[in-house]
Amino acid sequence: MEKVIVYTHSDCLLKDNGPNHPERKERLGVVLEAIQGIEDIDIEIKSAPLAALENIALVHPQAHLSGVFSMIPTSGLVSVEQEPYADTFLCPSSKDAILRACGAGIAGAQSVMQGDSKRVFCAVRPPGHHAETTRVNGFCFVNNVAVTARYLQDTHQIKRVAIIDFDVHHGNGTQEIFYNDNSVLYGSIHEYPLFPGTGAETEIGLGNIFNAPISPGTNGVDFLKIFKSKVLANVDKFQPEVILLSAGFDAHRRDPLANINLESKDYFNITKEIVDIANRHCQGRIISFLEGGYDLAALAESVTEHLYGLQDSQPDQ
Ligand SMILES: [Zn+2]
Repeated sequence: MEKVIVYTHSDCLLKDNGPNHPERKERLGVVLEAIQGIEDIDIEIKSAPLAALENIALVHPQAHLSGVFSMIPTSGLVSVEQEPYADTFLCPSSKDAILRACGAGIAGAQSVMQGDSKRVFCAVRPPGHHAETTRVNGFCFVNNVAVTARYLQDTHQIKRVAIIDFDVHHGNGTQEIFYNDNSVLYGSIHEYPLFPGTGAETEIGLGNIFNAPISPGTNGVDFLKIFKSKVLANVDKFQPEVILLSAGFDAHRRDPLANINLESKDYFNITKEIVDIANRHCQGRIISFLEGGYDLAALAESVTEHLYGLQDSQPDQ
């Protein structure tokens, strides 16, 4: 049984996207409530620090980040993207939420490298996997998982990082950032076609990008089969030293933004497969980041299953 460290911060609850927006603070609220309700897993909840700007600059140029922060309003909301995707907003408290979400990953990297725990879950928002080097996109401002990968390489001399993305949307940002860098493997399973439109199997980078597009209506059995053969088999060959997860839970059958039919318990099986690879190649080191997941009850259940998977034991039935 592995202890799971959860990094989170109340600042991440303050990020506001206005009424009727799917990426709302209640998402993190139900996730934290679910985590606090788990009694038979060894979980340590820790405060996510603010990310240092020089760490974010390993991925996003400082001028770009300053430009984004300069758009933060003193009241109300500002839309950062143009139509047809004008649904990514900055609010007065955005900066601290963005820096805490990224800081969770940095602190998580320090925790796994110091041996405090092999498993970290970053319960944060805003999410990150749509953020490209110099482009805010899809509710994402800073690519939390990408910054953590670069930080591990820059500060902890990690050579090979695998980023596995099982959010229902393709992580266009993460793919763009590492498209020409084969020290990082990016593997994604996602509904296709769907926002953001990228993620075809032909997008392979330097042979380090593995996309597994799946059709609307795919169930858990087929999802796991495709995930293992097209993503995890390649992660296994890559022999990563650390595994990072873009853990979105919007492939759940009850999610309003997509059309894949996973049940909550499928997230246990998905996670367990990843844990097996981590145990084989990287001393079990996994840092997982909350990305999407927009049905509150499904999200809470799915995160719970994910944590049982990370802890490497069966949930009580
Ligand atoms: Zn998503």
